[in-house]
Amino acid sequence: MIAANWKMHKTTSETREYITEFLPLVKDVSDVEIVLAPPFTSLAIAAKFLKGSNVKLAAQDVYWEEKGAFTGEISPLMLKDVECSYVIIGHSERRQYFGETDQTVNRKIKAALKAGLGVILCIGETLQERESNRTFEVLKRQITEGLKDINTDALVVAYEPVWAIGTGKTATPEQAQEAHQFIRTELKAIFGNEADNIRILYGGSVKPDNIASLMVKDDVDGALVGGASLKPDSFSAIVKFQGGDS
Ligand code: PEP
Repeated sequence: MIAANWKMHKTTSETREYITEFLPLVKDVSDVEIVLAPPFTSLAIAAKFLKGSNVKLAAQDVYWEEKGAFTGEISPLMLKDVECSYVIIGHSERRQYFGETDQTVNRKIKAALKAGLGVILCIGETLQERESNRTFEVLKRQITEGLKDINTDALVVAYEPVWAIGTGKTATPEQAQEAHQFIRTELKAIFGNEADNIRILYGGSVKPDNIASLMVKDDVDGALVGGASLKPDSFSAIVKFQGGDS
């Protein structure tokens, strides 16, 4: 899977223009699951323009209640209604700026799965946590608490070291593999050997010129891309890193 996280970028007309340009660039790609996560306001128009294509739609967040007096929130059913296949949950920006915790992440994952949405769970350590040798401890906590009482392996996990997001500082392929291998082991402790089927994406300053060196690693099963996904040519180059259109 290669997924684009647009964050708070693009109006509806910019979304339409992007998709019109992007789809022909990736139309022959069949060996990568391509996912776009535009902001909520662009989901409906994106769904309309992606219909019948090889590109799936994701939202960037969801609330855990089905409906009710929760001003500003969006329910899993509303995301299904605009044809989202996936939802990103626990992105570090939501944890950092909007009070997301492992407990709220857990509630959101349960609600999303119940509604039949695929979940892309984001985890990752800050620079301070890495420098104080707490990377594995943090990842273990985020996995164990985020996935508490969840008994399906229909998940995608994105390892996104916070220090690599939007900084231009990519984890080395070795750092990514080390973290992904650890994550796989933790997932096995929860889901057994089924965890081999869980895709673990790397995210953090992925670009056309570093995607291949990351993807070559055993436990790197895809990428979650922010900045470099905002232009159709650079995102399509990432999607097609291995000649995926041939
Ligand atoms: C992200 O926000 O998920 C991300 C990985 O951003 P960037 O690619 O810009 O580092």
